[in-house]
Amino acid sequence: MANRAYNFNAGPAALPLEVLQQAQEQFVEFDGTGMSIMEMSHRGKSYESVHFETEALLRELLNIPDGYKVLFLQGGASTQFAMVPMNLLSPGKVGAYVHTGNWASKAIKEAKMFGETAIAASSEADAFMRVPSVAELNIPENAAYLHLTSNETIGGTQWAEYPKLDSVPLVVDMSSDILCRPLNVSQFGLIYAGAQKNLGPSGVTIVILKEELIGKPSMPVPTMLQYATHAKSDSLYNTPPTFAIYMVNLTLKWIKKSGGAAAMERVNREKAELLYEAIDGSGGYYRGCAQPGSRSIMNVTFRLADEELEKRFVQQSEEAGFVGLKGHRDVGGLRASIYNAVPVDSVRALVAFMKDFKQRNG
Ligand SMILES: *Cc1c(COP(=O)(O)O)cnc(C)c1O
Repeated sequence: MANRAYNFNAGPAALPLEVLQQAQEQFVEFDGTGMSIMEMSHRGKSYESVHFETEALLRELLNIPDGYKVLFLQGGASTQFAMVPMNLLSPGKVGAYVHTGNWASKAIKEAKMFGETAIAASSEADAFMRVPSVAELNIPENAAYLHLTSNETIGGTQWAEYPKLDSVPLVVDMSSDILCRPLNVSQFGLIYAGAQKNLGPSGVTIVILKEELIGKPSMPVPTMLQYATHAKSDSLYNTPPTFAIYMVNLTLKWIKKSGGAAAMERVNREKAELLYEAIDGSGGYYRGCAQPGSRSIMNVTFRLADEELEKRFVQQSEEAGFVGLKGHRDVGGLRASIYNAVPVDSVRALVAFMKDFKQRNG
């Protein structure tokens, strides 16, 4: 078997070995066509069947009801930070945002370029180490939508439960936790996620949106940045990122074979519990960053007594075959990203390493 690292990268991140091997098998010749999937027309039968099967798999795994469109776009989640306000804001309306940290702040910054924004809640006073409770939300009456970041990849916080809103569409950045657990899609107006954390490689962004939100934007918006353009043409208006979509297809098949969203959640919780137990049971040697009720099951952030010791931890972990444990440069500390494709065994190995490190450096 390949010599695989214990991969805790934050994104792009680990993919299932099985998916990589399958892609390798089909890399040069796809499905008896005499060419790679990368070499064929996106308007041909072979590619189209992958494209529409990928959509069908997403619909099945997330239980997406009728009345929602699934789009495969480019430009990453970062482009959605702009596309959301460009398409959904109009004069007299405000984009309401929950400020939970680094990614939320980027979404807010983009929205300000296109209209009025409001902060419906913020956890800045707690250094973004928690997500606000639903009761804290203060949504303006003229809100076009409420935007929140499902999982703050850098801080390591996650919404355990999403607000249920009647009057305002809920728009959620799920880049780092889509399909980590089952969802009730009908609760949302729009969901977006770059694929490179939980669903595949970089290059494709998934957007799931309610059809009634797709209309003519009230401001001038380039054709490529209108949801309507892609919704009308099933994400085939121009050349889609065909190889990335193919990789998402294989990853979704792997999720389905593994038992779907509920099975993902079970394993993700098991992995997160192993790590949080190792942190909490270390007698204060390791300290979790996120407040307990807001802890992410995707990105586990923690600290040691000082930066010197953290540096040593990163260095020694790398020597032991672990990758990606250094925290984001904005916040420092340590972070283990344990997305769907990270095996429980990698987490067990990390827990053993943490115990050993403590013993050697206690
Ligand atoms: C990684 C990430 C992004 C940025 O995604 P890109 O695809 O690189 O633009 C946005 N939001 C969250 C929550 C992320 O984790």
